[in-house]
Amino acid sequence: MMSDENKSIHEFDLKLICEYFSTIERQGPGSPEVTAKALSFIDNLTDKSKIADIGCGTGGQTMVMANHAPGHITGIDLFPIFIDLFNANSQKLKLQDRVNGVVGSMDQLSFQDEALDLIWSEGAIYNIGFERGINEWRRFLKPGGFIAVSEASWFTQERPAEIETFWNDAYPEIDLIPRKLMQMQKAGYMPVAAFVLPENCWIEHFYAPQVFAQEVFLKKYAGNKIAEEFVENQRIEAELYYKYKDFYGYAFYIGKKI
Ligand code: SAH
Repeated sequence: MMSDENKSIHEFDLKLICEYFSTIERQGPGSPEVTAKALSFIDNLTDKSKIADIGCGTGGQTMVMANHAPGHITGIDLFPIFIDLFNANSQKLKLQDRVNGVVGSMDQLSFQDEALDLIWSEGAIYNIGFERGINEWRRFLKPGGFIAVSEASWFTQERPAEIETFWNDAYPEIDLIPRKLMQMQKAGYMPVAAFVLPENCWIEHFYAPQVFAQEVFLKKYAGNKIAEEFVENQRIEAELYYKYKDFYGYAFYIGKKI
């Protein structure tokens, strides 16, 4: 059992991590171009469509989606701080009638069966695992509805030990693209498309904005061990990406419920 003391330390960690990621536009690799590209494979949407963006964060990709697609989008994220920022963004862009955020967990979604035309999730399905996510979420989709998720993927059959070890610890479900597609097929989707996210999704849109955020954060929390360790880990992760980006990255997977 967690002691109260541990619990408060843990909550403090989460608060810091949320604060750090609140200061950047996206909380995972991606770009407006990639969101629009993934959306271009989806052809069932109308003004009446219902869309869920699961693990939406502050909504960087959601607002892009709203500008490229009709229908109503519900953003779902575990962290209230992100949802508050999400709803502020939606209001700022005058999208509040079509885009709203709610706090919730991706393993306990409260949609009715066959209620959704599209399930979207960028850089977030790893929180419950790709295979579990696509299987569990399927029942919320109408027949013929679409799922579009981005997910960490290996590009080569063999990888240097250092990066293999890092991922086996961080997310052992990382796998080759054809394996992910086969899991999608088995879960009851027709694979419609898969494409690799270009490097700028990591470099320009994810790691570069963090460099400034890290400086601000370290100044604010000078001497705070948890904050310093967290930033150090982010830096190590970025360095690993620059070193091993030929071996892994994110791919977008788009499937249609059969
Ligand atoms: N889609 C956003 C955020 C990706 S980061 C983007 O691409 O920028 C992953 C997100 O998943 C974070 O916002 C995190 O708060 C959220 N998350 C983590 N566990 C979750 C859970 N169990 N249910 C819902 N959201 C979760």
